[in-house]
Amino acid sequence: MQTITCDACKKKVDNPFTDRTFFHVGQHNICETCKVNLDEQIRSTVRTKDPFDYQWYSKLIMDNLAKSVSKGK
Ligand SMILES: [Zn+2]
Repeated sequence: MQTITCDACKKKVDNPFTDRTFFHVGQHNICETCKVNLDEQIRSTVRTKDPFDYQWYSKLIMDNLAKSVSKGK
């Protein structure tokens, strides 16, 4: 059985399914729970951004993910 470890919460995901049970974000692999948390964290910030800028958005995701990874949750 294939497993993958989430870089943020360090939980193992069994039989990972890309974009369904785990996600590639930059050079990190994160589980569904962490992806949902990440989306939630950036949602309010994204809403206030006008005009929308994809590079800014990518950087925002990376910054928030880096924070989660260093916190270990
Ligand atoms: Zn996780």
